Amino acid sequence: MQVSSFKFYPQSATSPPLADRCDAVVVGGGFYGVSLALELKKRMGRVAVVERESGLLRRASYANQARVHNGYHYPRSILTSMRSRVSYTKFRDEFAGAIDERFTQIYAVARRLSKVNAQQLSRFCRRIGADIAPAPREIMGLFNPHLVEAAFVVTECAFDGFRGPRRWKC
Ligand SMILES: Cc1cc2nc3c(=O)[nH]c(=O)nc-3n(C[C@H](O)[C@H](O)[C@H](O)COP(=O)(O)OP(=O)(O)OC[C@H]3O[C@@H](n4cnc5c(N)ncnc54)[C@H](O)[C@@H]3O)c2cc1C
Repeated sequence: MQVSSFKFYPQSATSPPLADRCDAVVVGGGFYGVSLALELKKRMGRVAVVERESGLLRRASYANQARVHNGYHYPRSILTSMRSRVSYTKFRDEFAGAIDERFTQIYAVARRLSKVNAQQLSRFCRRIGADIAPAPREIMGLFNPHLVEAAFVVTECAFDGFRGPRRWKC
C-alpha cells in the first residue's frame, strides 16, 4: 500500500463530517500520521488523513536535517544510539526510494558549550561500532578552528524529503 493511492478531498465547513464516512481519521499528514494511516489501511476500509497544509509532509517531516540516524547524534546515550543503529538498516530498506547516499556526512564538535568533546565522541562511536574518521584537511578548512575542535566523516545517509512527498503525493 502506497500513499499515492490516497485520494485528495478538499474539505469545507459544509462538508459532511468525516467520522460519518470513514473508519478512522488521522489528524496530521506528517511522517507519523501518514505511517499510521498506512498501517490502519491494512486493517480498515476507509482511512482519512486530515492535513491543514496543501499536501503531505510539508512541516517538520520536510523541513528537517534529513539525517537517517545511525547513532552519531546521541553520544550521551548508548541505548538511543544502539536503537538508531538497529533501525537504520530497516528504515533504509523500507524507504529505499527516498534514501540519498551521495552526501559526505560530517559531524563537527564545538570547542565551547558542547556536552561532549572530540575524544569522547570518537571513543563512543568505537564502543557502538559506528564508523568514524577524522575529516580531511580540506573539510577542516571549512570550519573556524577557534570554534570547532574537530570534525569527523561518518557513515549516515539522508532521507530525501522531496522524493518522499512526490512519491507520497495525494
Ligand atoms: C529542525 C529540525 C531538524 C530535524 N532533523 C531531523 C533529522 O535529521 N533526522 C530525523 O530523523 N529527525 C529530524 N527531526 C525530527 C523529525 O523531523 C520529526 O520527528 C518528524 O518530522 C515528526 O513528524 P510528525 O509527523 O510528528 O510531525 P510533522 O511532520 O510536523 O507533521 C504534523 C502535521 O500535522 C499537521 N497538523 C497539525 N495540526 C493540525 C490540525 N489541527 N489539523 C490538520 N493538520 C494539522 C501539520 O500541518 C503537519 O503537516 C528534525 C526536526 C526539526 C524540527
